[in-house]
Amino acid sequence: MKFNKILSNLKNYETGKPIELVVCEFGTNPEDVVKLASNENPFGVSKMVEQGMQEVFKNAYLYPDDSYYELKDVLANKHNVQSSNIIIGAGSDQIIEFCVHTKANKKSAVLMAGATFAMYEIYAKQVGAEIIRTKSKTHNLKELKELYKANKDKISIIFLCLPNNPLGECADAKDVYKFINKIKKNVLVVVDCAYMEFASFKDKDKLIQAKYLIENFENAIFLGTFSKAYGLGGMRIGYGIANKFIISELNKLRPPFNITTLSLRAAILALQDQNFVDECVKSNFLEMKRYETVADSLNIEYIPSYANFITLKFKEQNSTDICQNLLKKGIILRDLQSYGLNAIRITIGTSEQNTKVLEHLREILK
Ligand SMILES: *Cc1c(COP(=O)(O)O)cnc(C)c1O
Repeated sequence: MKFNKILSNLKNYETGKPIELVVCEFGTNPEDVVKLASNENPFGVSKMVEQGMQEVFKNAYLYPDDSYYELKDVLANKHNVQSSNIIIGAGSDQIIEFCVHTKANKKSAVLMAGATFAMYEIYAKQVGAEIIRTKSKTHNLKELKELYKANKDKISIIFLCLPNNPLGECADAKDVYKFINKIKKNVLVVVDCAYMEFASFKDKDKLIQAKYLIENFENAIFLGTFSKAYGLGGMRIGYGIANKFIISELNKLRPPFNITTLSLRAAILALQDQNFVDECVKSNFLEMKRYETVADSLNIEYIPSYANFITLKFKEQNSTDICQNLLKKGIILRDLQSYGLNAIRITIGTSEQNTKVLEHLREILK
């Protein structure tokens, strides 16, 4: 059978190796596996969410309320915007997909940083758009602006990942606003804030406020997710905030019931337990210091991170070998060779998990 030509160019997103496969391949005990490859919340699900979920399962036979009005109300309140400014997705991934499908096509290009979230490229390639990246791996707003100017006629979307996955750097909000100000209104600026809860805790200057963003820039969309700080990666739920004209176009692409009855309830409950999120974020940066200390002592380079992971860059050693070695010990980390980096991204785990990772890292690298 002949398939669409565009498919021959596509590769899948590389997900972290699931615990189940490590158990299967190496015979490791599931309890002994440390999975710090996908920036999930190491503290799991908030107790409040867990308890509330028992109740909702008996409604699993019903389609969810497709207006998602209850969740939108809570989110609107939190971000100080209107419900009509919000779209709900099966992960913010799905909102990225909608954004690409509303704006990009074969004749257009999308602009992004040298090493950034892989789904931007994957979705853009699905519609045949050209990918333009900065030479800098991290976000360099000056370089982004120059590339924008040089390709003004064809750029339809600019992706900003704040803080950036997989490198962890984060531009200051005021510089981001200055940058967006220079972009013409027909270009959609996607401001992906999957880790903003972490960045704004570490440094207030990084805080992108959805309300400020959409009131000042009619062509910008703010993306948030429940997968990281809120501990609901397995529930697949995220959201976009933008002016209501953008939201109504994106909604045309949204399949009915794109999130489940269970995820809908989980997200609403998670928003009621801000304390859990605060504790997780606090622990994240305390534990991150331990990685920085060990990296310094082993002379390993890293970029100061504003997210829930730290990326270590290697010189002599090969990141794939290190990851393979650790996998045999039941430790799953993310190798970044596919991003063109000889580096490993480590999600900051619980104290015990980090102790185990650091022990083995020291042993392998000494
Ligand atoms: C994890 C992540 C997302 C979204 O994840 P979902 O689980 O689809 O909500 C979006 N952007 C970045 C940069 C991420 O790291």
